[in-house]
Amino acid sequence: MTNEPTEPTATKRDFIREMVAHDLAEGYCEVPITRFPPEPNGYLHIGHAKAICLDFGLAQEYKHLGARCHLRFDDTNPCKEDVEFVNSIQEDIKWLGFDWGDHLYFASDIFQFYYDCAIHLIENGLAYVDLQDRETMRALRGNVTTPGTDSPYRDTTPAENIELFTAMKEGKYPEGAAVLRAKIDMASSNMNMRDPVIYRISYDSHHNTGTQWCIYPMYDFAHPLEDAYEHITHSLCTLEFENHRPLYDWAIENCPVPAKPKQREFSRLNITYTVMSKRKLRQMVEDKLVAGWDDPRMPTLCGMRRRGYPAAAIVEFCQGVGITKFNGNTDVARLENSVRSQLNTNAERRMAVLAPLKLVLSNVPEDFEEEISVAINPEKPELGHRQVKLTRELFIEKEDFMVTPPNKKYKRLSPGACVRLRGGYCIIATDYDLDDEGNVTELRAEIIPDTIGNPAPEGIKCKAAIHWVSSKYGVPAELRLYDRLFGDEAPDANPEGFLASMNKDSLTIITDAIVEPSLAAVAPEFLCQFERTGYFVADRYDHSPEKPVFNRSVGLRDSWSKMNKS
Ligand code: ATP
Ligand code: MG
Repeated sequence: MTNEPTEPTATKRDFIREMVAHDLAEGYCEVPITRFPPEPNGYLHIGHAKAICLDFGLAQEYKHLGARCHLRFDDTNPCKEDVEFVNSIQEDIKWLGFDWGDHLYFASDIFQFYYDCAIHLIENGLAYVDLQDRETMRALRGNVTTPGTDSPYRDTTPAENIELFTAMKEGKYPEGAAVLRAKIDMASSNMNMRDPVIYRISYDSHHNTGTQWCIYPMYDFAHPLEDAYEHITHSLCTLEFENHRPLYDWAIENCPVPAKPKQREFSRLNITYTVMSKRKLRQMVEDKLVAGWDDPRMPTLCGMRRRGYPAAAIVEFCQGVGITKFNGNTDVARLENSVRSQLNTNAERRMAVLAPLKLVLSNVPEDFEEEISVAINPEKPELGHRQVKLTRELFIEKEDFMVTPPNKKYKRLSPGACVRLRGGYCIIATDYDLDDEGNVTELRAEIIPDTIGNPAPEGIKCKAAIHWVSSKYGVPAELRLYDRLFGDEAPDANPEGFLASMNKDSLTIITDAIVEPSLAAVAPEFLCQFERTGYFVADRYDHSPEKPVFNRSVGLRDSWSKMNKS
């Protein structure tokens, strides 16, 4: 006998992980099997990532026992679904680093199974066809304080019900004219148990089964059956399904299923300054308020990927948020901090000038050129250095020079002041040209010899290093600077609707930036820190050596919380 540990490898225990450990110890199951069941009607968002990290994470933690997580497309709804979403969902889960192996399922593959279960219920007097119209049925359901009233169809015989249900299946009724209801308890304090509808008619074409079926199982009926069919042990979902659990258990109890899965609920992820509902995200895409599902400002996984958020940062964030039963609102700064801390240790450094000002080194010859060695990542000295060419004419940031500095705290360039060119010489600003409006158009400075790797000479204060790019070798680039898509902490709570909370300045495009030449050659999705300005990623689709395009993933510091504090 092998002495395999039954303890999961992750140390952080939440109530779900406690339950799974307990269920293994008690023999409820030998191997945990979970599933992630997206409905293919939109792209995955960061909320889904939380569920993915739990479902697939558990399977990883019990890998030694043979645990697994199924990817199941919950596609029992005919009209809204699309192969575009089926493909993107798989791509996004893989990108996060998870794998379903051979366990890819489509709920629509087992329409026959749900149907057989429905027949079984009818035969056992546990389901009936109701021919009342929708309004009457709704009225008879009662409300939280009033019990429901039995439908006149409730006591139809199984034989009659089989006939009616068959007629439904054969397309003899128009949509809405007949439904199949579970016969449970019209007086239940749980509204979901008051003879819920479990099958309805729809003549929409289904992406998988076309027009083969015109009756479709409701989510609450199909979901437990799918879980049982796949031998799922722990069906984990969000809290809004807690009230549906008795119906889940009822279906498992009363249908001829091969396994007895259990449903447990945890709180949804909500994030400040963000909307998460697929319906709302779709609306923004359809109304062209964003460039698409993968617009880098979107909370979708493909949007975050395009924004340059590393998958590892998203996983770390989801793990950090934890699994609880309390619905809260997580500060978006927490996600941004996960991104920043991932990038700070891993991203290479490069130099790029966002708002170029020409700087001439007036005490070197016209054809001056020198290879300067700059650290690839000061946090990781083992990565070594890269060579950057210093020439007589450079670009620096406009904001790194001021004719009249505001105060003594200003450490950058001004006439007579000294700074270091990152990795290179100390320089002293000598003079400058102005245009008619008083803007500086060109700056001249002198290098101080022998200051590469050495401090400035005695008596010269050189307190800052600024980034620079050779004007001879630098490459023009487009930079896209993103800010939060919503200006309100809780856009969903805006009485004028969430769209009224949109931040009009969430995208700034800089078309005349200059970047160091190595950046033209990088592959799409190359991520780096532009020294002093933020973390940038080469756009996944638009970047090319001929036209470099970079998206700002996140700033170097949390500028929002700083703003809110001041
Ligand atoms: P939305 O409300 O955004 O449209 P949904 O719940 O309808 O999402 P599904 O495709 O049905 O989307 O979700 C698949 C799984 O992801 C479900 O198990 C659901 O509970 C989970 N999930 C969806 N949104 C969140 C969230 N914000 N936090 C955690 N889990 C979520
Ligand atoms: Mg759903």
